[in-house]
Amino acid sequence: MKVGFVYDPIYLEHDTGQHVENAKRLEAIISHLEQTGLKQQLIPIKPGAASIEELSLVHHKQHISHIQDVAQRGGGWLDADTVMSPNSYEVAVYAAGGAIRATEAVMDGEVNSAFALVRPPGHHATPQRAMGFCLFNNVAIATKYALAKYKLERILIIDFDVHHGNGTQATFYDNPQVLYISTHQYPFYPGTGSIEESGVGEAKGTTVNIPLPAGCGDAEYLQTFEQIVVPVAKWFKPQLILVSAGYDLHWADGIAMMQVSVTGFTQMVKIIKELADELCNGHLVFSLEGGYNLTALAASVKATFDVLLGNTNIEDRLGQSPHRFPAPSITPLIKAIKEIHNLA
Ligand SMILES: [Zn+2]
Repeated sequence: MKVGFVYDPIYLEHDTGQHVENAKRLEAIISHLEQTGLKQQLIPIKPGAASIEELSLVHHKQHISHIQDVAQRGGGWLDADTVMSPNSYEVAVYAAGGAIRATEAVMDGEVNSAFALVRPPGHHATPQRAMGFCLFNNVAIATKYALAKYKLERILIIDFDVHHGNGTQATFYDNPQVLYISTHQYPFYPGTGSIEESGVGEAKGTTVNIPLPAGCGDAEYLQTFEQIVVPVAKWFKPQLILVSAGYDLHWADGIAMMQVSVTGFTQMVKIIKELADELCNGHLVFSLEGGYNLTALAASVKATFDVLLGNTNIEDRLGQSPHRFPAPSITPLIKAIKEIHNLA
């Protein structure tokens, strides 16, 4: 298995100060991949800058020039959550470019699968605005790029970050070529992602939201993946799968209230990889979204690479959740989603 990773030190230059989304996240991932010897098993992919034309596949011109202007003025806060430094525009352009390059490497057969280890993250960025730590929507841009360059007709985006990817949903809400499926804590930031939000017009049914109550752990995510994600993917028959990979649903992550372990991520990634192998010649691209407990983030990203490489005996030193929250029953929710989406 040839597995690629996109990384460049430029991603450390989006200086957010004491913000929870900071450069230490990528430093922790890279140093863990080095210390465990895993980095040597991977193929490095160099990112380039996304062009204005590529950013414009998703974003309005005014949004792009606004981000550029704020950076030129020295940075600042775009909203209560989202901050920029002087280099942030350039870094964000490279983050989008990183997701594009990872996608190209997979589609051109340089690697079997790839993971873009980029920041700032992207899935909250809408066509018109930055929000939720996100400036440009890396996965949405790579998706539009792949549709055009490789003349694809169906791309599946799986978003398992603990937050709903409102920006990605908004980008493809009326686009039947892209199926967006998201598992997320709900109700929670950013407020979107109810089961009724399922696309419009010809795209009705190609947005699938799985709004999970707080407290879900490995068992609930496995149930969700087996009963919703797998049948939806098999129905849609994608030619490429992109994953908005956020790890803030790990039990040790303080930003949310889920209880997934590294072993849980291993199970979810295995299911995604099997879907890619069965449905689209293994064409599979991950792009980093959230994940704010540095130890859990680094271990979970490494476990993701282990699955992509086909490694077995994947370690989980952090272990299972101490069950800070009671595990909810999600069976009625799963049933309701199956009804809305006509899943057997
Ligand atoms: Zn998140």
